[in-house]
Amino acid sequence: MINIVSNLKNIKQLLPPQVKLIAVSKFHPVSSILDAYNAGQLLFGESRMQELVEKQEHLPSNIEWHFIGNLQSNKVKAVVACANTIHSVDSWKLLTEINKYALAANKKINCLLEIRIAREDTKAGLSFDDCREFLSTNNWKDLNGIHIVGLMGMATNTDDGEQIRKEFRSLKSFFEEIKLNHFENEVYFKEISMGMSDDFTIAIEEGATMVRIGSSIFGHREY
Ligand SMILES: *Cc1c(COP(=O)(O)O)cnc(C)c1O
Repeated sequence: MINIVSNLKNIKQLLPPQVKLIAVSKFHPVSSILDAYNAGQLLFGESRMQELVEKQEHLPSNIEWHFIGNLQSNKVKAVVACANTIHSVDSWKLLTEINKYALAANKKINCLLEIRIAREDTKAGLSFDDCREFLSTNNWKDLNGIHIVGLMGMATNTDDGEQIRKEFRSLKSFFEEIKLNHFENEVYFKEISMGMSDDFTIAIEEGATMVRIGSSIFGHREY
């Protein structure tokens, strides 16, 4: 038996108070989300548009939804309608789409730029250089429907803790670089979203401000 409430409690004990826990509820039912919600969890992460839309209709409106999955342009409108934060922004086109629908809905969407830090080249995200180039154009400063609040990254799926640590460290130092070069006076640029069930303790040691944890709270997913 999975005990969501005690799993949550155990994880919370490992998190410094300033680190936000995004409970990743993808593939888990509304009833599991409610269990966590009733134990005080308000931030949830989903990775598919349809699933997010359906679930949020059945859940309390004070839940803060974080979209963490690959996002196609034709799904942006629906995600913007539900989400507070999108962790997986990896192109200028996507950012402008989010901005467009956020303005239409009179919302501000918090966006994190997803950076490719893993060794596998299958993982999504901007390279460091793509991101530098993207920010140096300054076009993003005209987008009034979004806030760029930070960076997101996923480490290589490996047992090699030193490799994972190196990757998280690279994201943290890249964050410091672009904070200095592009966001020095932007108080809301402060988030580093890194760390999942298997690697969040390393991520916290390396400076994560948000961790995205699914299976350690809700159990294994049935795809
Ligand atoms: C599924 C997912 C997670 C959570 O993974 P767990 O290993 O279950 O904790 C975190 N981040 C992203 C982007 C995901 O897709």
